[in-house]
Amino acid sequence: MTTATEAKNPLKDWVPETRTLLLGDRSAEAAGETWDVYNPATEAVIATVTGASSGQVDEAVAAARQAFPAWAALSGEERSRHIHRFADVLEKAADRLLPSIVNEVGTPVSLAEYLQVKMAVDEHLRWAAEAAKTDRTIHLGEFDKPVPTMSDVVHQPVGVVAAITGYNYPLNLAIFKFGAALAAGCTVVLLPSPRTPLTTLFLGDLIKEAGLPQGVMNVVIGGADVGQQLSSHPGVDRVSFTGSDGVGAKIMEQAAANIAGVTLELGGKSPSIVLPGVNVQKIAVEMHLRWSRNGGQGCAALARLLVHEAVYDEFLDAGASAFDQMVVGDPWDRATNIGPMIRPDHQVRVRGFIDGSVAEGGTKLLEVTKSLPEKGWFVNPVLLGGLPHSARAVQQEIFGPVAVIVPFKDTEEAIRLANDTPYGLAANVWCDDLVEGRRVAEQVRAGTVWINGGGAMRPDAPFGGYGKSGVGRELGEWGMREYLEVKHIQWRI
Ligand code: NAD
Repeated sequence: MTTATEAKNPLKDWVPETRTLLLGDRSAEAAGETWDVYNPATEAVIATVTGASSGQVDEAVAAARQAFPAWAALSGEERSRHIHRFADVLEKAADRLLPSIVNEVGTPVSLAEYLQVKMAVDEHLRWAAEAAKTDRTIHLGEFDKPVPTMSDVVHQPVGVVAAITGYNYPLNLAIFKFGAALAAGCTVVLLPSPRTPLTTLFLGDLIKEAGLPQGVMNVVIGGADVGQQLSSHPGVDRVSFTGSDGVGAKIMEQAAANIAGVTLELGGKSPSIVLPGVNVQKIAVEMHLRWSRNGGQGCAALARLLVHEAVYDEFLDAGASAFDQMVVGDPWDRATNIGPMIRPDHQVRVRGFIDGSVAEGGTKLLEVTKSLPEKGWFVNPVLLGGLPHSARAVQQEIFGPVAVIVPFKDTEEAIRLANDTPYGLAANVWCDDLVEGRRVAEQVRAGTVWINGGGAMRPDAPFGGYGKSGVGRELGEWGMREYLEVKHIQWRI
């Protein structure tokens, strides 16, 4: 007998069978190291995969290099058609992309449907396909010192892009990179996290099905050694990386060997500021359900709550019902909103932040106390308080279902605290006066600042960070520019 959930998700247990790399038009058996891939919700091994050998990394880069001149020479309209066709294929494969992501990342299905699949393809890849058509030439006009001249500025693709992604959003993070890179006229070698390689291996099949010209998109998998080879490869012109700031720093160094440009989308410790006068009854639940989304494994998780002291107690009371609404467990259960941590070492690390904070004098102000499933690397969500702003749990990215709350006396202190971490990826300002909210938003040093919760992740708006949250921007016209060289052409008149 099938349950209602199974009936709705006939492909629930499906994981991609593809284990081959995509090197040019060749699906190649990988010849490097072998490792297991787990379902973090069940601890079961769902695949055993083999990474690229060093020779295969060279082959992938060579294929991308060879494909580059012809792809770059296509008109924007032609590239747009190719990208739209690829999006059509991805849309048709959504029923398989979804279980692939749920089973390898552990994202609850109710969240994954839109955030991990539909948004990535319908919004972001389609936007990039349209952006391919834009003529970015700027006519600067006349300049007459010492002789009269005219100038144009044109934009041309940078070349071969190494696109290296983190584990938490395997499809989105890849699309943010290759959508813009392909639209700009670049060719790509894609390398996913070794913890979640299956969706990207499956992409290799879909790239072929979409009929993208040979070598325009290549797929390799592997660990740090493959990432290192790729990001320091003399055949790579730009490295676009999403992951931790520690690895980001290494990538910068590795790419420096070839003076290759880098785009780095790194971690954060993003604040959510509750200004005086805000009706906390209306916002507390939303705030807690937001930072705990994807089990807190989101780069822009607003997990540092800065709350005005006048509403602090009321805010805590109002938030208690959010913790009642948190359901930790089976990602395929539509009631679940908190899935597992990606691996047991990460589960231990997240719990270490909780226990360490309590040992340092912090308090668990709110927590889910229900018993956890026997299998799976789950952590019950916790709100920590009573910690100084300098505490480890307040300063560092935890990347789990743990938030910290810090009270402030006045708005200037809130702004100072908001800016008092090495990061600057995102922030939110809750206010009852938009003028004041906007004033605060302007002063918070972060790449994205939402006011009163903001809205959807727009494909036409930049995303990226200040400070240790990164270098450069993805999405929108700013994301396109990461993959374009700028050329000044000047002639005498
Ligand atoms: P990670 O840094 O551990 O790994 C990311 C990738 O780097 C993996 O593919 C890995 O194989 C590769 N890698 C490891 N060592 C390398 C090396 N020396 N050279 C080249 N590549 C190497 O990150 P993660 O744990 O997979 O992802 C979580 C992190 O990503 C968090 O810090 C999160 O905030 C960040 N993130 C940022 C954004 C953003 O847009 N700013 C989005 C999602 C995740």
